[in-house]
Amino acid sequence: MRTPHVVVIPYPAQGHVIPMMEISQCLVMKGFKVTFVNTEFNHNRVMKALKEEDKIKGKINLVSMPDGLEPWQDRNELGQLSLAIFSTMPRKLEELIMKINESDRDKVTCVLADGSMGWAIEVAAKMGIKRVAFWPASAAHLACGFCIPKLMEDGIINENGTPVKGEMIQLSPTMPPINPANFVWPCIGDLNTQRIVFEVMVKNNNAAKLVDWLICNTSYDFEPAALSLAPEILPIGPLLASNRLGNPSGYFWPENSTCLKWLDQQPPSSVIYVAFGSFTVFDSIQFQELALGLELSNRPFLWVARNDITNGSNDPYPEGFLDRVANHGQIVGWAPQQSVLLHPSIGCFLSHCGWNSTMEGVSNGVPILCWPYFADQFLNQSYVCDVWKVGLGFNRDKKGVVSKEEIVQKVNQVFGDEEMKARVLKLKEKAMKDVKEGGCSFKNFNNFIEYMKV
Ligand code: UDP
Repeated sequence: MRTPHVVVIPYPAQGHVIPMMEISQCLVMKGFKVTFVNTEFNHNRVMKALKEEDKIKGKINLVSMPDGLEPWQDRNELGQLSLAIFSTMPRKLEELIMKINESDRDKVTCVLADGSMGWAIEVAAKMGIKRVAFWPASAAHLACGFCIPKLMEDGIINENGTPVKGEMIQLSPTMPPINPANFVWPCIGDLNTQRIVFEVMVKNNNAAKLVDWLICNTSYDFEPAALSLAPEILPIGPLLASNRLGNPSGYFWPENSTCLKWLDQQPPSSVIYVAFGSFTVFDSIQFQELALGLELSNRPFLWVARNDITNGSNDPYPEGFLDRVANHGQIVGWAPQQSVLLHPSIGCFLSHCGWNSTMEGVSNGVPILCWPYFADQFLNQSYVCDVWKVGLGFNRDKKGVVSKEEIVQKVNQVFGDEEMKARVLKLKEKAMKDVKEGGCSFKNFNNFIEYMKV
């Protein structure tokens, strides 16, 4: 009997690669063959960051294709990246599938594409292959995208997607109010980038009509209203490696797991975990203010400061800071975040509110201090603070800076709020039920696997 063979294609960003690797690992466990396609740029980063033991395990076939940009071009320029992907990757994917089908006895039976890579769904449809889209962000974000024609018709956005009216809107009577300025496309880059991102979103919406399944890293308990507004979205989350395999992979940076030993030495629920995902970049003033806020808070902290986190100097810390905090602060370049958030010493998560981080924080019962930067992070913050009420946002001063005093105040507020802690633990409990046997996400996930098998 032939083994079902799935080609998995994430959008080339860390927050997309990690959850799709997690799904791929589950597929391998269930007897599938998986070919995982990264862009060449990201493939090289993943291979460099991979631990030796994972290289040996090597159950997933990691392959790469060009993203259409020159090596020196900036891949954080998302408009430019999207255009390059569209002009290069569809043809490359078709060639890859043809090559696999010629040489491998296990021909490609399904394409599992990121919802942001709608072109891959179109390629699969053209080649007559089954297709599933995975959406690694919130269902609310995707539902907003599906509502684009109506939003235009109602004059809420113009033909470029730019919000025209300032007031809050509701996409359905049960949906939480949304500020149109928090739609994802007006929160990415300059006007030109926003227009490109908007156009891509419209194209992806059309491609989504071609899928057999549309699965999403969320659950009915997190987003009941968005999931009833767009019932074609099937929740399979929260996707946490700890629920399934305990082995997240696909990191772009080598993880520093020594911080777990340091966490072992801290009192329960005492540590502030500070991490801004893979994209966020700080200017040096804000970076220093954050450092001073953490110092002033007088609590243990674990801070992920990627080597590219500031646009300033090589030594971005305030003078003497590293010596002063040596006893109660740990700074790492990349942490095993899921294991960190699972650790009993973590008391709060200061986060940029990327969707994966949001899911990981809430699903581990950790209250979140929200510091969103771009894209869907503002919408995610409104779920954390206003819908689930399991976190707080920061106010900025007249210069647009979150001051050290503001940081200390909000940290103290979160640590002192027992009701918030109780709410986040309740949400964690529900989320865990959703992914366990009998839960909705568990059932959806299994049905999706069964569908892919035949
Ligand atoms: N992450 C990690 N170690 C870190 C920082 C982040 O493993 O030090 C992981 C985190 O667990 C999450 C992903 O990177 O799964 C970031 O995705 P998210 O959607 O939160 O943010 P993005 O990077 O897309 O802005």
